[in-house]
Amino acid sequence: MIPKRPRPQPQWTVGGLPVQLRRSARRRTLSLHVAPGAVTVHAPARTPEALIETFLEARRGWAERHLAAYAARSAPAPLEDGSPLPFLGETLTLRLTPGMRAPRRSGAELHVAPGDPADVRAGVERWYRRAALPELRALVEGYADALGARDRLRRFGLSAARTRWGSCTAGGDIRLHWLLARAPREVAAYVALHEAAHLLELNHSPRYWAHVARQMPGHATSRAWLKAHGHTLALE
Ligand SMILES: [Zn+2]
Repeated sequence: MIPKRPRPQPQWTVGGLPVQLRRSARRRTLSLHVAPGAVTVHAPARTPEALIETFLEARRGWAERHLAAYAARSAPAPLEDGSPLPFLGETLTLRLTPGMRAPRRSGAELHVAPGDPADVRAGVERWYRRAALPELRALVEGYADALGARDRLRRFGLSAARTRWGSCTAGGDIRLHWLLARAPREVAAYVALHEAAHLLELNHSPRYWAHVARQMPGHATSRAWLKAHGHTLALE
């Protein structure tokens, strides 16, 4: 017997989010539905995918504006016991544990001493920076290796720049924003690759983008994600 498999979903994305396709025999028209963090296209059972794609492209700008508006409206929640803490694709839970001198991760929990909100926030940030450094460094070094540019990489460090996610100097110093540790792993990986590729080309020429695309053919999805959701990475 051949196991029954669901029909593969087409790989469309809008604003960095995968588009869910829902077909229904009763439906006669196409419609696009946008909710916070989700994009769904409803289609009749037999509408060809090419037609759905054209429909989606025509409404892409509209959908991305709505997603950006949702993201802007959802203010970051204050940190409290039980708050979720995204970390490169994992989700840890914040625990306010009396007696903690330094923030410490245990399994899927991050223990921080209770205190006023600024102290809790500072403890959480301290942990993120410590945990992010080796992870983000490994991503940068990995891409520098893959690009054959490892000998051009001088120093790696974290930044807290206001306006950029990463930087690369002519001397080979790369910095990534520590908040990238709160992004999905593939998004952090894209920024690591973006800066590592600048070790070869200190510009955004077609040659530069060819280096990026060879290492990460789907990089546009992560760029779109950063544009739409980057500001939500900030800690309250
Ligand atoms: Zn760049």
